[in-house]
Amino acid sequence: MSVTETQARGRATSKPIGIPGIKHIVAVASGKGGVGKSTTSCNLALGFAAHGLKVGILDADIYGPSQPKLFGLRGKPRLIGARTLEPMERFGVKVMSVGFLVEEALAMIWRGPMVISAITQMLDEVAWGDLDVLVIDLPPGTGDASLTIAQQTPLAGAVIVSTPQDIALIDTRRSVAMFRKVNVPLLGIIENMSSFCCPDCGHVSPIFGHGGARIEAERIGVPFLGEIPLDIRIRMTSDEGRPIVATEPESVHAKLYIGIARHVWLALSTGRANKPAPRIVIE
Ligand code: ADP
Repeated sequence: MSVTETQARGRATSKPIGIPGIKHIVAVASGKGGVGKSTTSCNLALGFAAHGLKVGILDADIYGPSQPKLFGLRGKPRLIGARTLEPMERFGVKVMSVGFLVEEALAMIWRGPMVISAITQMLDEVAWGDLDVLVIDLPPGTGDASLTIAQQTPLAGAVIVSTPQDIALIDTRRSVAMFRKVNVPLLGIIENMSSFCCPDCGHVSPIFGHGGARIEAERIGVPFLGEIPLDIRIRMTSDEGRPIVATEPESVHAKLYIGIARHVWLALSTGRANKPAPRIVIE
């Protein structure tokens, strides 16, 4: 049996112990990079906060930490006591990222166990305080780091971000399979970059196709959480460190994220997310 299979079985039999003070930990995953996972994690966390929840975000995308930039945060977290770090805070959300702690180029060459130890530290040795939800921005794909987090972290569930086209959906299926293998409830799939609305003429073009993730979600029995269009305001506000949900909360796009956060929170708070995983579809 491979290490991966052994790890997966570990979670299947023994659920990791929760983190004191944190009610629900939600992983945001994607089958591959570049589909908007970090942007979605950031705006989803802000969406929870918009509902008055106490929220933190842990940027576990060790090979490309984006949360410092997305939240417009610089500097280093303060050390409190011998080993505990105080998370940074912006727009009412507590933020911790390996990007605050080491040069990106250094983390790039970390081996698997170092990645895992860094993430474990960011969970256990950060003064998160009382949180309703901690969002974890996972590394893309189903590599060792993602699998270990899925297996060793007390996740309430996972949200998967996909673009609509077939090629992305193939990777999305792998992510779904990974979470099912380690018995992490799937809270749902979000279709990002769903369509493009021209800011000049208002014409809507389905650049990457449209509706693929919804069809796939129905096929594999995972809730479909909604569509986020490809929109220049989302890209610009992300690049400027002024995420759209925090800075343009009345915009159509912010409302989409806030609506998705409400949906996810309902699943978490009513225990719907803890239902047994649906039947596995053999491809
Ligand atoms: P990932 O975390 O999957 O690698 P990112 O969140 O870093 O992806 O997004 C990749 C790029 O796409 C970024 O420049 C981001 O601003 C942009 N982006 C993500 N989602 C959208 C969207 N819905 N509309 C416009 N740009 C987006």
